Amino acid sequence: MRKAPVSITEILQQLESFYGGQSPCWPTDPYEFLVWWHCGYPASDAACMRGWKSLTASIGIAPERILAAGTAALTEALKPGGMVPELRAMRLLEIAARVRNEYGGDLRAALTGPIPRVRAALKRFPNIADPGADRILLFGGIAPVAAIPSNSPHVLLRIQRGWERENYGVNYREAQKALEAEVPAVFEARQRAYLLLKQHGQELCKRTKPKCAACPVQPACAYFARGSGMGPGEA
Ligand code: SF4
Repeated sequence: MRKAPVSITEILQQLESFYGGQSPCWPTDPYEFLVWWHCGYPASDAACMRGWKSLTASIGIAPERILAAGTAALTEALKPGGMVPELRAMRLLEIAARVRNEYGGDLRAALTGPIPRVRAALKRFPNIADPGADRILLFGGIAPVAAIPSNSPHVLLRIQRGWERENYGVNYREAQKALEAEVPAVFEARQRAYLLLKQHGQELCKRTKPKCAACPVQPACAYFARGSGMGPGEA
């Protein structure tokens, strides 16, 4: 007989006992997050933090400071964050110009009203799709949406169901539905879930070659029990 899937409450408790309590290592203000997100490429916490430190020390992040600096100085400041600093500099100029011209310099104050409209406004910024918009909504204190970390929509699906789909967007929505059903729609609970799933996707339950031997959730994980991550009809 098939075992009932382990609850998300239980999964989160196990992850928290293993990794400890988590807190965001990025700026949670929406505008600052957009800047931080473009400070590194490939975007990782470490790369973005390197570029962010360099940018804040040399130029600053206020829209006027970024616009006054221009492409060459921004490119130089963003180099510690990794690849394509010129392209990232141009994106920063685009973000700063929009925040100054369309939002009077205060993006957070403008992000009010119906959530679909706020989400659409966020997705007009470069490199912001649903995972980025959800992350801003949740950590910016705008709406306690069931955000799923962009590096780990597969985590809950693997543990509870034993397989994931090839389509990233479908995995994201399915993981989001599962979280919505079990984790209360309050900021603290959903931020905690996000941070623990992100940590687990980063450290052990990686997209390819998960490190199951070291995983605290292994005894309850349907993916591990099946010995395969492929879904019905996707083998
Ligand atoms: S046992 Fe493996 S697949 Fe399951 S949660 Fe842990 S790392 Fe991920």
